[in-house]
Amino acid sequence: MNFRTIIEPFRIKSVESVKFTRREEREAAIQDAGFNVFRLRAEDVLIDLLTDSGTGAMSAAQWGALMQGDESYAGSRSFYRFESVVRDLTGFTHVIPTHQGRAAERILFHSVLKPGQVIPNNNHFDTTRANIEVEQCEARDLVIAEGRVPALVHPFKGNVDLAALEKTLREDGARVPLVMVTVTNNSGGGQPVSLENIRGVRALCDRYRKPLFLDACRFAENAYFIKIREAGQGDRTPKAIAQEMFSLADGCTMSAKKDGLANIGGFLAMNDDRLAETARNLLILTEGFPTYGGLAGYDLEAIARGLEEVVEEPYLRYRIRSTEYLGDKLTAAGVPTIRPSGGHAIYLDARALLPHIPPLQYPGIALTNALYVEAGIRGVEIGTVMFGLRPDGSETPGAMDLVRLAIPRRVYTQSHIDYVAEGAIEVARLKESLRGYRIVSAPTVLRHFTARFEKL
Ligand SMILES: *Cc1c(COP(=O)(O)O)cnc(C)c1O
Repeated sequence: MNFRTIIEPFRIKSVESVKFTRREEREAAIQDAGFNVFRLRAEDVLIDLLTDSGTGAMSAAQWGALMQGDESYAGSRSFYRFESVVRDLTGFTHVIPTHQGRAAERILFHSVLKPGQVIPNNNHFDTTRANIEVEQCEARDLVIAEGRVPALVHPFKGNVDLAALEKTLREDGARVPLVMVTVTNNSGGGQPVSLENIRGVRALCDRYRKPLFLDACRFAENAYFIKIREAGQGDRTPKAIAQEMFSLADGCTMSAKKDGLANIGGFLAMNDDRLAETARNLLILTEGFPTYGGLAGYDLEAIARGLEEVVEEPYLRYRIRSTEYLGDKLTAAGVPTIRPSGGHAIYLDARALLPHIPPLQYPGIALTNALYVEAGIRGVEIGTVMFGLRPDGSETPGAMDLVRLAIPRRVYTQSHIDYVAEGAIEVARLKESLRGYRIVSAPTVLRHFTARFEKL
C-alpha cells in the first residue's frame, strides 16, 4: 500500500476528557499563576505541550505488562526482562535501572568526575549540565555552527563539531574523563546526529583513549532521522540503526520518560566492569538495590515493552511526521521556528516574532502566555528566563528566546495538532498587541519553574 496519508498507527481504547475553558477563565488562571504556566493547574490546560517527558500514552500491551510486574526486592523477573531488552538494544554488559534520566547522570558523573574536569557534548541538557557543574566541572557544548542558527536548514543540526572536539582533546585531554553525545539534541531543538558523525566522534575517542557515552533519551527518533536523511541508511530498520549507534559507544544514560514510552524510569548502561561496580554502590545509596533502582517491578515491565514498541517503524514514521506536519503549517503561515522540525517538539522563535519586546522583557514568556490565553495551549519558554540569570544575580539575554511546543507520544491526534497550528498562527497575527513582562519574584536557581511575573 502506498497511500500518502500518514495515520496514527493505533486505535484508541481508553480516553481522557479535556476541559474547555473560556478566555476570561484562562485570563484569571494565568494571572493567579503569576503569569508562569508552570504554576497553572494542568486541568485548566486544553492541549498540554509543556513537555514530552513522562507524558506519553502507554499501549494496551504495556498496561497488561504492569500486571506481570514482579515486586521482589532482589532478583525480580521484571528486572531480568528489562535487562535483556536493554542489552539486546544497546549491547552494553551492565544495565543499571534508575528512577529517571537525571539519576543516571548523577551516578555516572559522581563516579567519574574530579573537580576541574571537562565533559564535551554537542549540547548538554539542563540536568546533565547541572550534574556536571555540581561536581565543579565544565560542561562544554561543541555542536556544529549550523546547529546554532534557528532558521538554517541542515539534516543533522545536532552533529558534534569534530574539529572543536579534537581541539578540546588535544589541549585539555588530560581533564576529559569521557565524551558525550546527546541524541537527539534536545537543547538544540531536538535535532539529530548522523551515524557518520558518531563514527567520527568514536574515532577521536579511540585516538585519545576516551570512553564515549550517549545521552540516549531520544535514540529511536534519532535512528529514524538517520534512516530517512542519511545516505545508504534507508533500507535498514530503526532498531538496526539504533543498535549501531549504541555499538559505537561505551555506555549511555537514558530517560525512559522519553523514548522508553513510559511515565517514569531510566537507566545507566556501560561495558566497564569497575565503573559499573562504583555506580551500583552509589545506586544502593540513593536509588535502591541494583535490580530495581528506585522503580517498581511493574515500571521495569512497562519500560521493557516500551523500548520494543518505540523502534517500530510505523510508530516512528507517524511520530516524526506529525511533528513535522505542525512545523510545516507554521512555516507556511510565516511563523518563525527552528528549522527543520525536530523529533519531539517545535520551537517557536519568539525573538524573531516579537522584535518589539527586548530579551530582558521576555518575549518567550509573552508568547507562551498568549498561546495559553488565546487557545488554551501550554508551551514553555526556553530563553532568557531559563538561561539568562548569571551566578552573581545579574541578567543577560539567553542565546535565543524560544517557545517549545513538545509533543507527548501517542497522546494527541491530527485534529489536535491542526488546532495547535491554528492557535499559534492566530497568536502570531496578534503579535503587535503582545507586551513584555517583568519578574516580580524569583528564586536564585532554576527560576523559570517558580518565578512570578507582571505584565508591562
Ligand atoms: C529529559 C532529559 C534528561 C533527563 O531525564 P529525566 O528523566 O527528566 O531526569 C537528560 N537528557 C536529555 C537530553 C533529556 O531530554
